[in-house]
Amino acid sequence: APRLRVAPSPTGDPHVGTAYMSLFNLAFARQQGGSFVLRIEDTDRARFREDSEAQVFETLHWLGLQWDEGPDVGGPFAPYRQSERLDTYRPYVERLLADGRAYHCWCSTERLTEMREMQQKLKQPTGYDRLCHGKTREERAELPGFNETPVVRMLIPDDVELSFDDLIRGRVSAPRPDDQVILKGDGFPTYHLAVVVDDHEMGITHVVRGEEWISSTPKHIQLYKDLGLEPPAFAHMPLLRNADKSKISKRKNPAARLTWFKEQGYLPEALVNFLALLAYPPKEGADGEDVEVFTFDDFSKDFDWRKVNPVGPIFDLKKLDWLNGVHVRGLDVGELASRLLPFLEADGVLDDNPSLGQLARLRKVTELIQTRMVLLTEATALVRPFFVGDDEIEVAEDARAQLKDDSGAVLAAATRALEDVDDTRSGVLGSETGWTAAAIEAALRAAIVEDMGIKPKFAFGPLRTAVSGQRISPPLFESMEILGKTSTLARLHRLAD
Ligand code: ATP
Ligand code: GLU
Repeated sequence: APRLRVAPSPTGDPHVGTAYMSLFNLAFARQQGGSFVLRIEDTDRARFREDSEAQVFETLHWLGLQWDEGPDVGGPFAPYRQSERLDTYRPYVERLLADGRAYHCWCSTERLTEMREMQQKLKQPTGYDRLCHGKTREERAELPGFNETPVVRMLIPDDVELSFDDLIRGRVSAPRPDDQVILKGDGFPTYHLAVVVDDHEMGITHVVRGEEWISSTPKHIQLYKDLGLEPPAFAHMPLLRNADKSKISKRKNPAARLTWFKEQGYLPEALVNFLALLAYPPKEGADGEDVEVFTFDDFSKDFDWRKVNPVGPIFDLKKLDWLNGVHVRGLDVGELASRLLPFLEADGVLDDNPSLGQLARLRKVTELIQTRMVLLTEATALVRPFFVGDDEIEVAEDARAQLKDDSGAVLAAATRALEDVDDTRSGVLGSETGWTAAAIEAALRAAIVEDMGIKPKFAFGPLRTAVSGQRISPPLFESMEILGKTSTLARLHRLAD
């Protein structure tokens, strides 16, 4: 069965590209009944960040992109962190050296910089000039620009194969590579060696990664050949782009950081749907129309590499917002309420251990706001009025503007009308007896719209302001029902003063 992997480097906040690569790897692995491996490529010690790995685990978990093997869950090919595999790489380097496929290089950084500058000045192709190739340490030490600690370079043969088959792109060609460093002075392999050794050792059958690696693939295929190994299949995903076609990057786009989406209140299923749609066509519906809203399982079921669009997709967050709204509306109310909970707790709307009564109320409020929100973070303002004391309602500026000269009279009439609504019997949904939205609405319409002759548009603005402190709020009568008679009257009374 196929084995796929994602191999992030723990160099900071996880990139949204890591989720995007994971998604496509996983879709194929699941469809084929294969395995998905998470490998941490931490050989770049200079860019290593301690907390980055945990963030990778957390964000991919959040997205539901679960791996079968990895540093946290183990597996038959452990360890899954490259820094813990240094002994694995050494014999491969020895073999390449013994077979003349690789050589030591003692050139100092200063010499390499001078060499590059000279090549550029003479408009020659840049690349290592092989000064050290075929020399012993003693021979090389006689020459200038000698560094005590050598690196190991692979020897790119004259007949290196520069093209390869890509599952998405068909036949692809890349420029001739340089004699790449494969083992650094600190004893760590470079990415190029480690990726080949680990993909081989871990039985990876399909390497799916970003298109920026296309130019490295001939080196990797050469290493497989030098080591007498069978290369895996390759698929290079199109990179995500800004509207100006530049690639999205963490330095320029906050939305390149995976944690950003969670903080903003996007649903993981909406982000997964969005990332899939970026490089994959919509599904075809029963009537032949495009179906853009789908789950991971729908996506994975009939996944086909040939359908992946090789052109770098525009990362259009408006589309994500739309998808998020659709997924929010598609959730079961109880589920949505539990997704809102961490945001409401963080914003101080609810305590960390809400009571059963609070949770029941949250569920009712969630029902009211489900169609009125796009991001989970928007819930805070809508929900807060239901969880504050009656005299803690803060009246927003634009809500206060709803109060006109006759607002006092409207509030007084509403108070009288609602005092007569019986709240002693528990309400039956839609019935006009008991403290129900329908009974409240009937009483208020009779008192304000009919008796006072005020248009509904003007009649209910001041009431909304009194009850929620906001101009835009969940539906008024339902809100009053949830708040109960005592609270509702207290809030009307407070604003009337
Ligand atoms: P920056 O985005 O600022 O360059 P970075 O240096 O951390 O940040 P990389 O290390 O280049 O990012 O990439 C991290 C991972 O994200 C890689 O697996 C890479 O393939 C992927 N990636 C980077 N940019 C994009 C992109 N525009 N679209 C899709 N994936 C990307
Ligand atoms: N560590 C590399 C990265 O972060 C992995 C590239 C690959 O998948 O081969 O992009």
